[in-house]
Amino acid sequence: MNKQKKCSTQSIMSVFYSPDYIIDGAFDTIGKAGELADLLTLDPVAGTRIVKPVSATRRDIVSVHDETYVDRVLNGHGGQFSSDDESAVSVLATTGGVLRAVETVLENGGCAGSLSSGLHHAKYDSGSGYCTFNGLVIGARQAISLGAKRVLILDLDAHCGGGTKELIGLLRDQDIDGIEQVDVSVSSFDQYHNATFAQLKIVGASDYLVTIQQSLDAIVDPGSIDLVIYNAGMDPHEKAGGLQGINTSVIRQREAMVFEWAKSFDLPIVWVLAGGYSGGSFTKRDVAALHRITVEEAARVYLNVTMIAASASD
Ligand SMILES: [Zn+2]
Repeated sequence: MNKQKKCSTQSIMSVFYSPDYIIDGAFDTIGKAGELADLLTLDPVAGTRIVKPVSATRRDIVSVHDETYVDRVLNGHGGQFSSDDESAVSVLATTGGVLRAVETVLENGGCAGSLSSGLHHAKYDSGSGYCTFNGLVIGARQAISLGAKRVLILDLDAHCGGGTKELIGLLRDQDIDGIEQVDVSVSSFDQYHNATFAQLKIVGASDYLVTIQQSLDAIVDPGSIDLVIYNAGMDPHEKAGGLQGINTSVIRQREAMVFEWAKSFDLPIVWVLAGGYSGGSFTKRDVAALHRITVEEAARVYLNVTMIAASASD
């Protein structure tokens, strides 16, 4: 698959989103995508376009999750948020966004994103931590089905991706290997023991960027990676649920580091939103402005777009 990688000519970055992603009045995890879509519509990042994804199907979801659990959610009785049927519409749409972004970059190379959140804690047969279905592993599994040999899930959400680790392990038990995780967290929630295929570090604010750089540098033979799926949580940020000292400048450096690392090996990469929370005077719009940094840095690095003004400040 590596030889098919397309290089360096990307001019448009697709950002998958549909109003089906959001549930009115919902918690930030499934409410904030609309705020960010508004920001990206009112003041677009050059070179990006919002694309409505075809939703995921039951078949996509049961490729990594327990069928009984999946059917409970899809029938409106198994999600964590409510028994509202809309939650099934929402999770199929947000998972579909990841799948369509994965297909886009496997086909064309480069970078794409989806305004999806609530993925990495989801376990084989249950939701956890505001995550219902694990779109990261569903996306990685889809990439393997499409011929990818090596998929890296890079998780920089504040919390650990224990759900992801469990699901990668279960796929490996079925001889579906080729998926690995690198995870740098600032909270022990959903932590797990490291394995050959999943490396977790939990750090403080002062070690944050250096640990991420070291973790990227420790990845063996990055050029053989067929796809990176980046869980770009904003909840490490000091005002969005994280640690004092991880400010907007640190977050922008983090996003630059990730996309520059991936671009240096011409790796196809898909980003998603993950955590990041409003509270006090820090509004949902402020959270969306943080997530916009991911879009800006992805565009800057992959499309060579020059930023005129940063949209978020400390
Ligand atoms: Zn989180």
